[in-house]
Amino acid sequence: MSSIEGLDIRKILEHAHVGVVIHRADTSIIYANPAALKLLQLEYQEIIGADAYDPKWHFIDESGCPLNLDDYPVNRVQKTGTNIDNEIMGMVDAGGQDISWFMVNAYMEGRPGADSCFVVVTFSDVTATVKPFSAEDILENAQDVIIVTEADDIDYPNGPRIVYVNKAFEQLTGYSKDEVLGETPRILQGSLTDKEARKKIRSALQKKQAITQTLLNYGRNGRPYWMEMNILPLTNRHGTVTHFAAIQRDVSQIKFQQEQLENRNRDLRALKVSLEQKVKERTLSLQHATRKLEKLAYFDSLTELPNRRFFSVQLEKQIKSCSRRKALIAFGLLDIDNFKKVNDTRGHTAGDKVLQAVAASLCNSLRGEDVVCRYGGEEFAFALSVANEQEVKAACERVIEGIRTMQVPGAGDALAITASMGVTYMKCDEHANEADLCRRADELMYEAKRAGKNRYLLEPLDQ
Ligand code: GH3
Ligand code: MG
Ligand code: MG
Repeated sequence: MSSIEGLDIRKILEHAHVGVVIHRADTSIIYANPAALKLLQLEYQEIIGADAYDPKWHFIDESGCPLNLDDYPVNRVQKTGTNIDNEIMGMVDAGGQDISWFMVNAYMEGRPGADSCFVVVTFSDVTATVKPFSAEDILENAQDVIIVTEADDIDYPNGPRIVYVNKAFEQLTGYSKDEVLGETPRILQGSLTDKEARKKIRSALQKKQAITQTLLNYGRNGRPYWMEMNILPLTNRHGTVTHFAAIQRDVSQIKFQQEQLENRNRDLRALKVSLEQKVKERTLSLQHATRKLEKLAYFDSLTELPNRRFFSVQLEKQIKSCSRRKALIAFGLLDIDNFKKVNDTRGHTAGDKVLQAVAASLCNSLRGEDVVCRYGGEEFAFALSVANEQEVKAACERVIEGIRTMQVPGAGDALAITASMGVTYMKCDEHANEADLCRRADELMYEAKRAGKNRYLLEPLDQ
């Protein structure tokens, strides 16, 4: 076995990275190794012989309070006779700007009071690891729920094991830290927790990937709440994922409001559809009513022929079109013969049936483009666009013959109905109006009556 007795201890100290300062019993410095000089930023000459109190710098404790001179490592060891073990102290430079943090150890070497009594102070720079605030405090007091689990075993039933939860977790779930450490976050899930979302989380954990999910969880007393969670893989300094941190917030209120909003939107959509339906129905019934009104305004309800008002409009158009085309209009007035007698002998209803039958017969005898109407009472008018007298005659024959031979359904025994008609012309270069035509046709019609009825009289046409 080799011995270290021959080793040059001073040389070892010169090469050590830890600062070593040796004080005499009167606290003056007898030795400082190069590491100490470097850490204290002093020259050898500046330190040797100086006592513990040096205005170039002063010590503070871990919380930043200046240390009394009595509490300086060398003084404390001397006064109390106890060692200082791994204590963090800060050294503030003369300007009060820079703080270097040291891990300090100090002990007494030799018998107190003896000449060979020294206080040895060793220290190393731990500034890089001393932080001005505690990240743990932030985690612990964050409003978000934080859960840290191990990453090595994520399988049912034991994994992943919870190794940390913060206060917000305890407050929200009702579980205490002691109850959940070593458990798995599965204890927070229940019957309504979405299986698909759970699968997604599991798959991300297997791949050691981050994931964001919203999941229904249950508290200790069974209260359900919606958690939006960001799960992050945590790596050690070798890059291996060792843990998962889940940062979660309660979004139940938002989710509830969202559901309410969706319900309201659905109701509004349904209301919109039913309103649109109602508007459609109303529009249809309005169109229907308008058509009915138009019919009432322009058609005769008994015979369903246009009335005199509508006829006038149509006749006006026909007059204009004939002037343009240099055509001829034949205007006729027709009156049922002895109609009063029908009413008197068969009754008014039978009279109505006769009027309907005459209207139908007229429509049958005339062409689609001819204009025809019930002019009033038992009188009808028509206007035909014709090329010559023959055409008019043929139409008049058809009309008179049609009425004479028509059946009158619903009027009892067969009725012999005839009509008398006067027909006048309007030539294209003539500027006649409806009243002129009507007067001339009326005169001819009465002439036909006087001549024995059941006939038509045509105004002579000198072509
Ligand atoms: P004439 O051959 O000279 O034309 O004799 P007429 O009996 O046909 O003529 P008159 O003017 O004396 O009688 C017309 C009758 O038509 C009188 C009226 O009560 C009847 N009348 C008018 N409008 C209607 C109707 O809508 N329905 C019924 N049933 N009768 C009507
Ligand atoms: Mg009459
Ligand atoms: Mg009559």
